[in-house]
Amino acid sequence: MAGDQRLSHTDLAVLAPVGAADPDVLQPTVVQPEDRQPAAVQSAHPVQSETAGQVDPRRWRGSLLAGAVADALGAPIESKPIDQIREVFGPGGITGLVPERDGIGRITDDTQMTLFTAEALIRAHAQQRREGSSDVRYSTQLAYQRWLHTQGVPWEKARGPKNLTATPDGWLMGVPALFKRRAPGATCFFALKGYGQTGEMGTFTHTLNNSKGCGGVMRAAPAALWSDDPAAVFEIGAMTAALTHSHPSGYLPAGALAVMVHTLVRGGSLADALAACRAQLFRWNGHEETTAALDAAVDLSGRGAPTPEKVGTLGGGNVGETALSIAVYAALATNDLNAALLVSVNHDGDSDSTGAVCGNLVGALYGEDAIEPTWLAQLELREVIEAMAADLLAEFGPRPPADDRWATRYPKD
Ligand SMILES: [Mg+2]
Repeated sequence: MAGDQRLSHTDLAVLAPVGAADPDVLQPTVVQPEDRQPAAVQSAHPVQSETAGQVDPRRWRGSLLAGAVADALGAPIESKPIDQIREVFGPGGITGLVPERDGIGRITDDTQMTLFTAEALIRAHAQQRREGSSDVRYSTQLAYQRWLHTQGVPWEKARGPKNLTATPDGWLMGVPALFKRRAPGATCFFALKGYGQTGEMGTFTHTLNNSKGCGGVMRAAPAALWSDDPAAVFEIGAMTAALTHSHPSGYLPAGALAVMVHTLVRGGSLADALAACRAQLFRWNGHEETTAALDAAVDLSGRGAPTPEKVGTLGGGNVGETALSIAVYAALATNDLNAALLVSVNHDGDSDSTGAVCGNLVGALYGEDAIEPTWLAQLELREVIEAMAADLLAEFGPRPPADDRWATRYPKD
């Protein structure tokens, strides 16, 4: 995800959401289960379809898996001109995963960071249940600091001044394949390195930069499960992005994606998802670019069959609002999950990130069974992604685990 732009510093408007009392104070919205049966859930990823509440587990797993598949589809052609893509792969562009010699299709930083967003939200939510309070923003910051550590930054430089642990915790630290650099975005990298030095967290009002790179939206899908309330989902999604991207078009598309996935995994249509997303976007200052980008996607989807040239008219996908609009366009202009993923990556722009966001959407629309099985079979870290998807369903389902094993797997902060 090298297309994560650092923009020149211009004057920033006040970025507070309209009507939000204090955007710097975020607390988890915990839905207490009506019937607590903690002993019912003992294993790490035990959730059954009937215990997942309103969320369709096949759609939820589809969202995370298709996001990762499309991240891997787009990785070899990230920022490559479409003419060059056609020269190498034929007139139809890339038509499948390009595995390395070991047969594995590699994911990139988009999927890595999505896993850390997921882990953070589970940890904050579980801590809230155990202790009565938690700080989801701080949990997310620390999760991203753990990701930064996987990128080669020593823990004592990554952990930040408030955290004195000798080693990073959490089960993702035990996944050696995550300790790989996959073209991480510069904005994410430097914002998180800055936190490691100063402890300053990026918020809607405390800005770190003026970046609207797509590094915020590409990792936000797990926020879809945070709450039954779309407004809370939007705010949490945007909050996770604002930790590193301070321009509204860097963080509002993250909230928008989270609400769209929130709607889709509950059985909604793309039209429902767009309506829910617009209803939230309009409440926030600085939404105009993101709203216009969504309008452009909808308009273009009514203009015949998709082509890479048409995708190119929406932008390059290296900033938040165009990554979202290309993903939405690919979903609207097709009627098949895999066709949507190919539309979302075959263009001149930031293919892995536009793919990842599109995969989050169409996976939630069509469900995991619609994903091309040969792509899933080649997907790097498939088991880790499936385990995290299951853990999210467990934590945010009607009977979240309360056993010691869960507290060990998802400790505080
Ligand atoms: Mg990437």
